[in-house]
Amino acid sequence: MADDADRAGEEFVLTMANYLSHAPKFDEPSLAECIECGEDIPARRQAVGGVKRCVDCQSVLERKGG
Ligand SMILES: [Zn+2]
Repeated sequence: MADDADRAGEEFVLTMANYLSHAPKFDEPSLAECIECGEDIPARRQAVGGVKRCVDCQSVLERKGG
């Protein structure tokens, strides 16, 4: 079902766009490295502001409900 997969991808992009447009503005600057594992945080991620963790650590944190 390629159509379903395409639609899911589209929804994900729309959800992310919606999330980012409603995300609070962070006053804190992002860190260049993850505070959890020291991994470099990509510039695109730092641009969001207030980013302190890499994608991996952030996703683990969110899965825990924190
Ligand atoms: Zn990390």
